[in-house]
Amino acid sequence: MSKLKIAIQKSGRLSEKSLELLKDCGIKISTSNRKLRTESSNFPIEVLFLRDDDIPQYVEQGVADIGILGENEVWEKDKNINNVRKLGFAGCKLCLAIPKDEIYTDLSYFENKKIATSYPKILGNFFQEKGINVKIEEIGGSVEIAPSIGLANAIFDIVSTGSTLLTNGLKQVETVVESEAILVANKNLDTEKQAILDRLMFRIEAVKQSSENKYILLNAPNDKLEEIIGLLPGMKSPTVLPLAQDGWSSIHTVVKEDTFWDIIEQLKELGAEGILVLEIEKMIL
Ligand code: ATP
Ligand code: MG
Repeated sequence: MSKLKIAIQKSGRLSEKSLELLKDCGIKISTSNRKLRTESSNFPIEVLFLRDDDIPQYVEQGVADIGILGENEVWEKDKNINNVRKLGFAGCKLCLAIPKDEIYTDLSYFENKKIATSYPKILGNFFQEKGINVKIEEIGGSVEIAPSIGLANAIFDIVSTGSTLLTNGLKQVETVVESEAILVANKNLDTEKQAILDRLMFRIEAVKQSSENKYILLNAPNDKLEEIIGLLPGMKSPTVLPLAQDGWSSIHTVVKEDTFWDIIEQLKELGAEGILVLEIEKMIL
């Protein structure tokens, strides 16, 4: 039986989360001696550990069938592959920064300036769209040092805290794009591999849904039931059970993590009590 080959980052900011995602999907992978390839003992998948820069090319060529990497690398390498699903981790921003004493007005500042970056394609496309002419100096790493050594007037790079910028005498002036981890796939998977990918995506969907949602239980006075239920966008509709105490009911439902604080405040105002919020292990829609 064929196996689906998945490329993940060997070591770096994506490695741990990528392995964790597979684990949350119930896929066992032994990483004890960190070989460059390993097979799962309970799912038809083989893991290849690679540098993230190489993943788009390997997936295009079919050396790997699918891969997990940052969108920034997908855009920069611009290979002929499918973007299957954003994964919600390894979020970062790609920003323009200039020497901190410079006066910045708007993007026209960069006209005819020299910008150092490891992402020449993303940057080139950006300024081309804006109709601004810039010189791009491609360098592999330690981009922040470029202005102080006279290699460039500005930089374009991933910024997380801005403290690296500050220590190098730079300030961030524009965010060009925001990126996160994404799962990509080869465009010509055979039916057997596509079927394995579908199984994997089904599990990833369940894992992601569960992390984006919370299970809420609460007690509500019966005269406020309707209003309270109106606030709760459950998967279908909430479960309502009578409590032993007269005039009260227990409501169970699922809410989105990013809205649940707002909802909880409104629920309390309506007289809800004993509110419990629980993690969901898996969620199948
Ligand atoms: P490799 O050796 O595999 O080429 P790398 O040095 O290119 O590794 P990492 O620094 O491990 O890559 O970052 C991997 C990805 O993590 C980035 O491409 C980006 O998508 C994401 N990322 C998230 N936050 C940050 C950050 N603060 N700095 C750099 N990358 C980040
Ligand atoms: Mg890299």
